Amino acid sequence: MTEKDIIIIGAGTAGLSAAIYAQRAGKTTLVLEREAYGGQIINTPDVENYPGIAHISGFDFATGLYEQAQNLGAEVEFADVAGVEDQGGKKIVHTTGGDFACRALILATGVQRRKLGLPKEQAFTGKGVSYCATCDGAFFKGKDVAVNGGGNTALEDAQYLSRIAGKVYLIHRRDAFRADPAEVKKIEGKENVIPVLNCTVTDLVGDGKLSGVEVMNKVTGEKKVLPVSALFVAIGQAPSNAAFAGLVDLDEAGYIRAGEDCKTSRPGVFAAGDCRTKSVRQLTTAAADGAVAALAAAAYLG
Ligand code: NAP
Repeated sequence: MTEKDIIIIGAGTAGLSAAIYAQRAGKTTLVLEREAYGGQIINTPDVENYPGIAHISGFDFATGLYEQAQNLGAEVEFADVAGVEDQGGKKIVHTTGGDFACRALILATGVQRRKLGLPKEQAFTGKGVSYCATCDGAFFKGKDVAVNGGGNTALEDAQYLSRIAGKVYLIHRRDAFRADPAEVKKIEGKENVIPVLNCTVTDLVGDGKLSGVEVMNKVTGEKKVLPVSALFVAIGQAPSNAAFAGLVDLDEAGYIRAGEDCKTSRPGVFAAGDCRTKSVRQLTTAAADGAVAALAAAAYLG
C-alpha cells in the first residue's frame, strides 16, 4: 500500500496549495482527485480578483497550481474516495483505485454545483441543461439561451454567453442580484442579456433536447415559456462530504466543521477551502486555507 506523510483529498485551489506547502515543508504528499484537477475555478473564464494577477483564465490558474505542486514533488492519483479509516497514528483512505495510507489527512473536497431538483433535469443534462457555461457555451453559438441564478457565477456566465449566444435570459428568483456590484454593472451594459426577475424555473420543455424553459413569476403567479436551446444552472454550490461523516463533524448543511486553523474534530485531519465552515469562499481564501492546513499538518507530524 502506498504510504505518504500527508494525503490531500481534492485537487482544487485549496488542495493544490496545500500540496505546494506540504512539499516545501519536507513532507511526502499525495493528492487524490475524483475528476479533473482544478476544482470550481476551472469553470471561470476570467479571474480578475486574485491579488497580483489582473486577468487569468480559471483553467490557466489551475494548471499553474497543478504543475507547481507536481514540480515540487507532490504525487497525484485520480480515484474516488469511499471512506477513511482512522487507525490512530495511521489513516487508511479507501478509494476506487485501492487503499492509501498517511499519518495526516487534509480534506479539500470543495463544493459542487447545486441542481434545480426538477423531474426532467437529469434527462435534459447534456441535451440543453448544463452546469458549466465555459465548458458547454460554445455548443450554442448564435442560439438563445438562459442562465438561472443571481450570484457571481450566474452573472459571469451570462456575460460570457452574451459574447457567444443570441439572447441570454438571466432568470433570478428575486428582484435584485446577489452578485458583486461590479458584475451587475457589466451585465447592465449588455444589450442581449435580458433579466427575468422574480422568476423561478418550473419546468423544462423539449422533445429529446431542450427547446424551452417554463418560468413562473413569484409575484404575479404568471407562467411563460422562454424559447431557449440551453439552460445554464448557476444557483450556488453544495458540499458533498457524506464519505467523511463518521470521521469528522459536519454542520447541518454538510460542511466540515473547522475554524481558521483548519483543524477538524479529529486529530490529524484538517479541512481546507470551500468544504469547511467559513464565511468567505473565494480563490484567495481557498489558497490561504491550503497553506494553513498543510503547515498545521506538518506541525502535527513533527
Ligand atoms: P451564490 O453566491 O450562493 O448564489 C447562488 C444564487 O442562486 C443566488 O442568487 C440564489 O438566490 C440563487 N439560488 C439558490 N438556490 C436557488 C434555487 N433553488 N432556485 C433558484 N435560485 C436559487 O453562488 P455562486 O454564484 O455559485 O457563488 C458561490 C461563491 O463563489 C460565492 O461566494 C461567490 O462570490 C463566489 N464566486 C466568486 C467569483 C469571483 O469572485 N469572480 C466568481 C464566481 C463565484 P438568492 O440570491 O435569492 O439567494
